[in-house]
Amino acid sequence: MPAELLDGIAAARVIRDEVAEAVRVQRARGVVPGLAVVLVGEDPASTVYVRNKGRACEEAGMHSVTIRLAASTTQAELLAVVDQLNTDPAIHGMLVQMPLPAHCNADEVIRRIDPAKDVDGFHPINAGKLIIGERDGFAPCTPAGVMELLRRYQVPTAGAEVVILGRSNIVGKPMASLLVQPGVDATVTICHSRTRNLAQHTRRADILIAAIGRPKFVTSDMVKPGATVIDVGINRVDEPRAKNGYILAGDVDFAAVREVAGRITPVPGGVGPLTIAMLLRSTLVAASRVPAA
Ligand code: NDP
Repeated sequence: MPAELLDGIAAARVIRDEVAEAVRVQRARGVVPGLAVVLVGEDPASTVYVRNKGRACEEAGMHSVTIRLAASTTQAELLAVVDQLNTDPAIHGMLVQMPLPAHCNADEVIRRIDPAKDVDGFHPINAGKLIIGERDGFAPCTPAGVMELLRRYQVPTAGAEVVILGRSNIVGKPMASLLVQPGVDATVTICHSRTRNLAQHTRRADILIAAIGRPKFVTSDMVKPGATVIDVGINRVDEPRAKNGYILAGDVDFAAVREVAGRITPVPGGVGPLTIAMLLRSTLVAASRVPAA
């Protein structure tokens, strides 16, 4: 029997409706949650992401600001924009869309963001809070979205063997931190490009999370029958027959793995929509911490 589909669009819809309801409560006490997104340059994928974030904010009744800067913007100019947003009382959450042009120093930009407004959860303060389990920080939106999906589909995590493919600071590592928190209680293995005998690890997984950026990398022989497979990957694959000349593919060979897994996320329509929903929720949380005027 093919695996049950974990529907990220439906889950994200529910979260976004919950956020919209909570935004109404905030507005009633005089606080309009505000998110600023800074886009430097015109990377096509980033431009789409930023547009989607702005639309989602507005749909939830939030204040949305998109600041588009030329690719030639200097580091100093970018830092000045971050400084201005840090002190803007109408902005509760902000993010600088990655990747930045090569001449910009992303680490310095991230460190400049007020941790209380860092709804992407990339600032070292928030990364540290996540590891030590302090709940007043912000977790990165994509792994937070995966947790939400696991929770809403009641995928058991206590004592489960979870194998994560990828050790990035925005997906793999924070994903592991969330899964080992008391109350979640998974046993986590993180794999990366230097891992030996990768399939030996993946075949142990009750929950397999792929976040490596390699289309269809996870094949059916790498998956334990009945496992929950979460595909974080979003890869553009050339497809001349497609309208844009490409299609989106995950890191998992969906058609084949679906026959083995117990539950699986599609791409698109799996983890991606959750990421934006969690961004909205974090902005709401940031706004709700602000005392009413
Ligand atoms: P990174 O490129 O930052 O990290 C990729 C990780 O995968 C690295 O740790 C790398 O190992 C590991 N890796 C690469 N190749 C292999 C391999 N052959 N075997 C084992 N491990 C490997 O990517 P991100 O974490 O930023 O993103 C991962 C994927 O998730 C991408 O497809 C991206 O588009 C997608 N993504 C989706 C989001 C969403 O909203 N759904 C949000 C963010 C990302 P090493 O460290 O050794 O190099």
